[in-house]
Amino acid sequence: MTFAALGMIEPLLRALAGLGYQTPTAIQQQAIPAVLAGRDLLATAQTGTGKTAGFALPLLQLLVRQGPRMAANSVRALVLVPTRELAEQVHASLRRYGRFLPLRSAVAYGGVSINPQMLQLRQGVDVLVATPGRLLDLHRQNALHFRQLQVLVLDEADRMLDLGFAAELRELLALLPKRRQTLLFSATFAAPLRELAGQLLEEPLRIEIGPRNVTAASVSQWLIAVDKRRKAELFLHLLKERRWGQVLVFARTRKGVDQLCAQLEAAGVSAAGIHGDRPQPARLRALERFRAGAVQVLVATDVAARGLDIDDLPLVVNLDLPNQAEDYVHRIGRTGRAGARGQALSLVCADEVARLTAIETLIRQSLRREEEPGFEAEHRVPASGPGSRLAAQVQKPACPAKSGAPKEAAPSRPLVRAVRPMPGFASGLGRNPRA
Ligand code: AMP
Repeated sequence: MTFAALGMIEPLLRALAGLGYQTPTAIQQQAIPAVLAGRDLLATAQTGTGKTAGFALPLLQLLVRQGPRMAANSVRALVLVPTRELAEQVHASLRRYGRFLPLRSAVAYGGVSINPQMLQLRQGVDVLVATPGRLLDLHRQNALHFRQLQVLVLDEADRMLDLGFAAELRELLALLPKRRQTLLFSATFAAPLRELAGQLLEEPLRIEIGPRNVTAASVSQWLIAVDKRRKAELFLHLLKERRWGQVLVFARTRKGVDQLCAQLEAAGVSAAGIHGDRPQPARLRALERFRAGAVQVLVATDVAARGLDIDDLPLVVNLDLPNQAEDYVHRIGRTGRAGARGQALSLVCADEVARLTAIETLIRQSLRREEEPGFEAEHRVPASGPGSRLAAQVQKPACPAKSGAPKEAAPSRPLVRAVRPMPGFASGLGRNPRA
């Protein structure tokens, strides 16, 4: 199977060749023809399956095929995402794939003044990637209307609901034209999402990549039982002892991120942290430094880490287990991407056993257990496993979505992020006036 066989046009094939994509992934093979044919989609796919290209490629092709029909302050395709990081990520992918196409695109999320963003929307854009709160703000200020909207994509829709965006989503959906194509992507498919899908989609093609809610088979997963107070020390020991290269570490709280970063720096290990309290430029800088290899360890909370796409990340470490089992799936989806092998290690203490059981139940497997000599847990981690009754004891997150934004959620009125014209997009085929 090739991208040409899926009917992709030459400028897209050229961009894909430049990126080294030779074979469409499973989700791309199914999604691309369906989207090109105008169908709605309901896709359950984990991160790392190539889902972004699965919607971005046919979306760009549809827009080019329909020709330039842009009006002032209009948008033809909207990609809704839960976080700023994912917005950046998806926008960067669109730019890469659309390098040789005469399309304009923009990204809108919190962080800077809304004014430059409003200015750039004046001419209209073909594709806008946005978080729901910012998008509503733009609409309320008449910077954007949806009369020309043809395609709506919801990416990581489960996460949008988890983060408390349900009300914003409802408000937005009421503003969109009824006649449109809708593509819904989600890593998990719990009841609230099924309800949303039922409202949004018309006879969608159902795509399910891999068994539902099960983590990528290409990731080897295990845990080391350890006392809570010794987790950071153990991490540092393993980092040195096992000569790890770059590692992405997840901590449950912002404080946990800051503390581990400080401990690592004190031990002479270069580390950077990202969490919701850090300003957006600082978060992006940390990510860039990690990508460039300037720091060895990137420590992140779940929300801040959404949408991170880091090539060839061999190892993810969970300093603590997440409150919501689904987040475990998202976390370890940062490794073993696009067919590569990955490793995911969790450092688990006794009072996390209910969280562990919930995760093992969700992924339908027990995590292999190890002990590290010299770090044996004084407080034994009780036996766990899929379906164990301990799963029922997992506490709900401190601030569930419905009662307001959770601690690490993007604010419902996110900070503003200026719309950037896409360098390769504003111009004609093959030209890039800003490059
Ligand atoms: P995603 O699941 O969209 O986050 O994509 C995961 C990673 O796979 C990204 O780094 C993509 O650039 C890469 N990727 C997506 N599709 C392909 C493909 N057909 N061939 C090679 N790499 C791909």
